[in-house]
Amino acid sequence: MPLETVKLTASFKLDGLLPQDIFSTYREVLSYLLNYAWEKRITSFRRLKAEKYYELRAKYPSLPSHYIYTACQMACSIYKSFRKLKRRGLAKAEKPVFKRQVVMLDDHLFSLDLESWESSIATENGRIKLKLLHGTYHEKFKEMKVGQAWLVKKEDGFYLKAVFSRAVELTEVNGKAIAVDINENNVAFGSEKHVDNKETRERAIRTAYFLKRRRLQSKPRLNEKPLLAKYRGRERRRVEDACHKIANQIIAEAEKVRASTVVLENLKNMRKKSRGSKAINGRLNRWSFRKLQNIIEYKAKLAGLNVKYVNARGSSSLCPKCGVRLSPNGYRRMKCPECGLEEDRDIVAVKNLLERYHRWMWGLHPFTPKALP
Ligand SMILES: [Zn+2]
Repeated sequence: MPLETVKLTASFKLDGLLPQDIFSTYREVLSYLLNYAWEKRITSFRRLKAEKYYELRAKYPSLPSHYIYTACQMACSIYKSFRKLKRRGLAKAEKPVFKRQVVMLDDHLFSLDLESWESSIATENGRIKLKLLHGTYHEKFKEMKVGQAWLVKKEDGFYLKAVFSRAVELTEVNGKAIAVDINENNVAFGSEKHVDNKETRERAIRTAYFLKRRRLQSKPRLNEKPLLAKYRGRERRRVEDACHKIANQIIAEAEKVRASTVVLENLKNMRKKSRGSKAINGRLNRWSFRKLQNIIEYKAKLAGLNVKYVNARGSSSLCPKCGVRLSPNGYRRMKCPECGLEEDRDIVAVKNLLERYHRWMWGLHPFTPKALP
């Protein structure tokens, strides 16, 4: 059976302070490595480590050695993404710089004790123990193991972002699938036989909080920042909560019909979907669209289901049978001028995604729609 690693990040707020120089020293080391990687065009962690480890060890003798390892890793990945952007003409700066208050930790540099809600972090002056205040922690992490983490300094304190992982065995692909079509206000999912339609109310939640924030900002007061942050936190949690509920329903449906695969829309084609909405709206939607997909993906994999992304271009406007552009036929209804198929818009989208998945699975040519925009 195919094995797959599922990774999830949990963010914990730390109770107490970290020595300030942990961030400044790390930034110094990382900036030095980044500059060297850039000058010598090094993208390999092994090579960077081989060339610079001993020098940095001598320069920072009290710094735990694994900080140099993780700084090498980060320097390589920052340089690689900078080079990629540069090649596409998207980076203005001449060379990459690192300004963030972030420190990468490997399993030698920290540990988490989730029984007593405590973390231990290696510093230049030995290990320090810090209580965890609160976090986006969940029961499911108990069966997972923690590998690396990031220390992040924010305005309101220090955070530890830990990556949990678990290897899962995926079910053998049996041809049965559940496709998921995500829209601004609803999510449609199902098989050829049955499609469910769930309202997300995401837009309503976002609008309500937008109005709340605006009311708050219109009244001058001493300090509205904490309240604003509180609202933002609540808004995010409500949207996330809605995402989790829908994802659970999708997984339950997949298990009910014994599907082996969950089919999702490939995000590259997302811009087409938010056509008509304002730019700012579109951005928010894209963000939460991806968020919902991520939640569905990891829940599916934890349940042993395969996940496949397929091209979503035109999935709600083309006929799933013959590929002709459908014409609107009343509220959310679509009709095919060629074969006469008449269906709800959401059902059309789900059927198209399933059709594309099956074509991919059986190695057939992708559908070439006759009427693409
Ligand atoms: Zn048709």
